[in-house]
Amino acid sequence: MTYQTFSPFDGTLIQDFADISPHEYETKVARAQACFESWRHKSYAERATVIARAATLLRDQTDALAATMTLEMGKRIGEARAEVAFSARILDYYATNAERFLAPVKLHPVHGEAHMESSPIGVIFAVEPWNFPYYQLARVAGPHLMAGNTLVVKHAGIVPQCALAFERVLREAGAPDGLYTNLFVSHEQSEKLLDDPRIKGVCLTGSVAAGSSIAARAGKNLKVSSMELGGSDAFIVLEDADLDLVIPWAVWGRMYNCGQTCCAAKRFIVVESMADAFIERFKAALGALEAGDPMDERTTLGPLSSEAALVQLLGQVDEAVAKGATLLLGGKRIARPGAFMEPSILTDIAPDNPAFRDEFFGPVALFFRVKDEATAIALANDCDFGLGGSVWTRDSARGQRVASQVDTGMMFINNLDWTDAELPFGGIKASGYGRELGDMGIQQFVNKKLVRTNPIKAPA
Ligand code: NAP
Repeated sequence: MTYQTFSPFDGTLIQDFADISPHEYETKVARAQACFESWRHKSYAERATVIARAATLLRDQTDALAATMTLEMGKRIGEARAEVAFSARILDYYATNAERFLAPVKLHPVHGEAHMESSPIGVIFAVEPWNFPYYQLARVAGPHLMAGNTLVVKHAGIVPQCALAFERVLREAGAPDGLYTNLFVSHEQSEKLLDDPRIKGVCLTGSVAAGSSIAARAGKNLKVSSMELGGSDAFIVLEDADLDLVIPWAVWGRMYNCGQTCCAAKRFIVVESMADAFIERFKAALGALEAGDPMDERTTLGPLSSEAALVQLLGQVDEAVAKGATLLLGGKRIARPGAFMEPSILTDIAPDNPAFRDEFFGPVALFFRVKDEATAIALANDCDFGLGGSVWTRDSARGQRVASQVDTGMMFINNLDWTDAELPFGGIKASGYGRELGDMGIQQFVNKKLVRTNPIKAPA
C-alpha cells in the first residue's frame, strides 16, 4: 500500500488509500489534457477567480486543514496553521501578479521590431514531499495554473489526506475538471507519466535520489524539469555576531518543522572566539524542548514524520559517532510512543566521516569551530549541496561579502526568512536546479516565444 495515514504521534495506522487503477489513471490524465485545451485560452482574470477563491477557502478551512497535516506528518499545530495561511498567500499572490510576470516583453533588435511572449505548455507533473503538505502544492499550483498550465500531482505516500484536501479545495473554488488532479501513483507509474506525450514538464521537490531518477527520465523524454532537492545549509556565526539575536534563530532554524526542512540550518559554523558561548547557549536551548502532542499548542517538540524517518536519522547519528564524531547532546529516541527524537548536536566531524557530507533531516545539528571568516566560507562551500545558508554579523557589509562567497542558491543575513510568495526559491549543485516562486518560478513552464517583424527582402 503506497498511500497511508499513519500517526507519527502514537504509531497507529489510521487509513489506507488504494493506488490508482489503470482506468482511473488514463481518465484523469486525459481530463488534464482536455482541460488544458480550454484553460490555456482563459484570461488571467478568469483564472484568477478560481485561484483567489481557493486562497479564501484555504483561509476559511484553516483549522481542519492544519489538523489533517498534524495528524499525518506530526507538524506542530501552530506551524501547521501558519503553513495553511502562507499557502493561501501564495495563491493570492499569483492570482494578482501572474499577468504582470507573463506580459509580452518588448525587445530592441537593430532591425525591425520584436517581442517575447509567454504561453503555457500543457500538463505539468508535480512530485511533492510530505514536509510541507500544502505549501509545496500551493508553490506549484499558484504560478503554474495561473500561467495557463494544468497539473497532475503525485504527493508523498504519507500525506494522502492532505493531497485530497488540497484537490478538494480547488474543486470547491470552481476549478474545471482536470485543472488540478491528485494521482495516487506508484514510482513506476510516475515514470510512465514522464513517457506520456501529454505530460510536458515535471517539477519535483524531494531527495537527491528521487530528483536524479525523475530528472533522468524527463531528460530521456526531452521534457523540461525543475528540481528542488536536499540541503545542508551552513549557519555561519562570525565573531561580531549578536548572540541574543543568533541563538533563537539557531534553535528555530534547526528545529522548525522538527528539523525536516530542506533549507534548515544544518551545519553550525562558528568562529573560535564565539564558539564556547554559542554552543553553551544553543545546547541549553535545544535541551529545554519538550516532547508532546503536536495537536497541543504548548508542545515545543513534535514527532518526526514517520517511524522510518526516525530510524534513518538515528542510524545516521550512530554511524557518525562510530566514525569518530562526538555527541554533545541527545542522539536517542525518546522513550514514549511515536517517532520522537531528542534534539541532538554532533561535533568533531572529520571530512571523511559520512556525517560531513550527509543531510540530517531532523533535529540533529552539526557543530564546527573555525578560526576565521575565510575558513568558515571554505567549510560552508565544502558541501555537495548548495541550497541556502546564513551569516550572522553586526557588520552588514561583511554579511553581504560573505553571502556573495557562499556557493548556494539563497543566502540570508541575520535572518532565516526563507521563503515568500514573491521571492525565488531553489539551489545549485546536488540541491537541484530551476527556481520555484517569484518571477523566475512562474517562468519555468512557459514557452518564451520570440516574435519578430522585419520587412526586408531575402538575401540573394
Ligand atoms: P523523497 O523520498 O524524495 O520523496 C519526495 C517525493 O518524491 C514523494 O512524493 C515521493 O513519493 C516521491 N518519490 C521518491 N522517489 C520517487 C521515484 N523514484 N519516482 C517517483 N516519485 C518518487 O523525499 P523525502 O525524503 O520524503 O523528503 C525529504 C527530502 O526532500 C529532503 O532531502 C529535503 O531536503 C527535500 N526537500 C527539498 C525542498 C526544496 O525545496 N529544495 C523542500 C522540501 C524537501 P513516495 O512518498 O511515494 O515515496
